[in-house]
Amino acid sequence: MGKNGSSALPADFSAVGAPVAESGYLKLLATGELARRAEALDARLQRCDLCPRACAVDRKNAKVGSCGVGSLPKVASIYLHPWEEPPVSGTCGSGAIFFSGCTLSCIFCQNYPISQLGVGREISVEDLASGMLDLQKKGAHNINLVTSTHQMPAVVSALLSAARRGLRIPIVYNSSGYESVETLRLLDGIIDVYLPDIKYSDPQTAKKYSGAADYVSYNREALVEMWRQAGPIRTDAQGIALKGMIVRHLVLPENLSGSGDCLSFLAHRFGPQVWVSLMNQYFPAHKGPSTPPLDRKPTGEEYEAAFAALTALGISNGFVQAARSRSTPGGGDDPS
Ligand code: SF4
Repeated sequence: MGKNGSSALPADFSAVGAPVAESGYLKLLATGELARRAEALDARLQRCDLCPRACAVDRKNAKVGSCGVGSLPKVASIYLHPWEEPPVSGTCGSGAIFFSGCTLSCIFCQNYPISQLGVGREISVEDLASGMLDLQKKGAHNINLVTSTHQMPAVVSALLSAARRGLRIPIVYNSSGYESVETLRLLDGIIDVYLPDIKYSDPQTAKKYSGAADYVSYNREALVEMWRQAGPIRTDAQGIALKGMIVRHLVLPENLSGSGDCLSFLAHRFGPQVWVSLMNQYFPAHKGPSTPPLDRKPTGEEYEAAFAALTALGISNGFVQAARSRSTPGGGDDPS
């Protein structure tokens, strides 16, 4: 997602918590646990239940489920992304890998050719590992896995190879927030920074616009698990995130996003120290132009109402965007 025009909330944008010595996956590499996790994730492909859809298809034998992707990595683009939140993109850029397919089917997704129409190409696990190493060589602050939930078996296998070949930078898990806790537990210690969405507060709205009536319950359980693993953001001396969680919330027209309820959940479940990125970059894409009220951007008043809820709840860590900010170029990962 582009973060052009984002600014830090007024209070705290500094390192907090205990220092982080090295990326978690390096510790798991040393004990052999990273290889075991790769195997455990790969085994799940035979009767796939990696995400809440639980399609039960055998992806190792050329079957595909709702996400539309088999067992090989399928990637749309790999590049240095300058417009994520400042602790993610920093000064050199985030090493974004955009994965094809998606476990949701948002009718307003700005990346729908990639997420829903299959744009991208299959590559080998070793090529994916090489892509990670190239990003590190180019100066990326991290590897930013954009919508990778359904491809995590291949991703962790690639990470295993890349770590053996010298990968050292943190791993960012950039997710729609529609996750299985069982899968997330297999990522414990592998993911350094969680960057999930909280999209909706109402199951019927989630069903109507993203095809997932169970989004709200799975999303909230997933956020609790991500917080358990990563906690609040900790940064290096330059303000680059080393570990933690930032939750993204995209404001939709007519409050389809249930902003007050979503933000209230975050504040009450995690405390006001939770980091939130409140986004104002929705624009009508895919089927949005023919689906009122998604056929327009949120008004300034609608975004201001969400911002007022944020401040009333005492959330002061994170980022907001200017009320009239424009979407950014470069094929960002949201809104989806
Ligand atoms: S990852 Fe894909 S195949 Fe597996 S359960 Fe989810 S949507 Fe279905």
